[in-house]
Amino acid sequence: MPLSLLTQTPDELSSMLEDMGEPPYRGTQILEWVWQKRSTSIDEMHNLPARLRTHLKENFTLHTLAHARTQGSSDRTRKFLFRLYDGRYVESVLIPASPALYGERSDRRTLCISSQVGCAFGCKFCASGLEGFTRNLVPDEIAGQVLLAEELSGQKVNNIVFMGMGEPLANLPNLLKAFELITSPWGLGIGARHLTVSTSGLVPQIRRLADHPQQIRLAISLHGASDEVRDRIMPVNRKWPISELFDALHYWKVRKKQKLTLEYILIEGVNDDLAQAALLAQRAKSLHAKVNLIPYNRVEGLNWKRPSEAHCRSFQDTVAQGGVSTTLRLEKGHDIDAACGQLRLKQERRETGPRDTTETA
Ligand code: SAH
Ligand code: SF4
Repeated sequence: MPLSLLTQTPDELSSMLEDMGEPPYRGTQILEWVWQKRSTSIDEMHNLPARLRTHLKENFTLHTLAHARTQGSSDRTRKFLFRLYDGRYVESVLIPASPALYGERSDRRTLCISSQVGCAFGCKFCASGLEGFTRNLVPDEIAGQVLLAEELSGQKVNNIVFMGMGEPLANLPNLLKAFELITSPWGLGIGARHLTVSTSGLVPQIRRLADHPQQIRLAISLHGASDEVRDRIMPVNRKWPISELFDALHYWKVRKKQKLTLEYILIEGVNDDLAQAALLAQRAKSLHAKVNLIPYNRVEGLNWKRPSEAHCRSFQDTVAQGGVSTTLRLEKGHDIDAACGQLRLKQERRETGPRDTTETA
């Protein structure tokens, strides 16, 4: 597979152009075609000499992502299914600002993107992990989701969350390179503070990212306030239990001086006990973290379900009484298979026939 032109930095382009005896300003022209004009073919880069275009075509690809499907929901959240060069699929979800959270005039447009095809961490409730891990996404496939979502929606994305398919911290080298493409002024130009990585709790990588100079934000999928509950639904907890995870999160706080977010899916009869809510509040308080409560989205083939709205509110009240700021996301995307991984699973099953998914709660 040739390199993608999307991954080329100004320095890399300069040295290539120097080797070819081309003037340095060609590098700026190439970057403009890729990132500003959003070129989809090297042939249309008409201000470059033919010999340079030929060289680029022989050595680079441009876009390897293709649009496969869009699903829209009543609240204007849209989910895109993208086909990769090898016939695999990933998902991205475009989420407009919620007026309730950000005010009527907010122009926040968040794109939730994927970092891997499938996931190796096998959380029991999650569609992405259902059929295991297939492969890492490369940096141009990560940043390419933003380009394609912007093209399809006609809207500029100004906030990115790595909460789609996959465990981003298990793909750290490609993730760091993708940050460069997304945040550089010559790339997408989105500030690091507008990027949030969500992790199921990979302790060594949390520490490594804490040492990374960019002010990327971090969200942690906690989903259980005690090891006992977390062990049952997130196998990763057996490797890095809550105490080790929180040590790493304290380290993150020291290094980054940012507010952390704890994500907590509410699953009926599994982790929604009010005693968990009280413990969650204590843990969040120890980190000065905020808590996002997310009622579970049903996954085809799994028996888990969300608690009643009233119970979700009681859970939230208990966390709030512990002195922690919480949000409860009740509506967004529920009607479009919002839990990432589901659309891809449906598409792959349609193409290859049903597989055995006897895994249950
Ligand atoms: N692997 C990373 C990022 C991708 S998952 C992580 O686990 O954090 C992004 C978020 O979606 C996680 O908080 C995950 O637990 C949540 N999620 C997965 N399946 C879900 C479902 N069915 N309903 C609601 N949230 C879900
Ligand atoms: Fe992987 Fe995250 Fe799903 Fe767990 S919740 S299986 S870590 S994508």
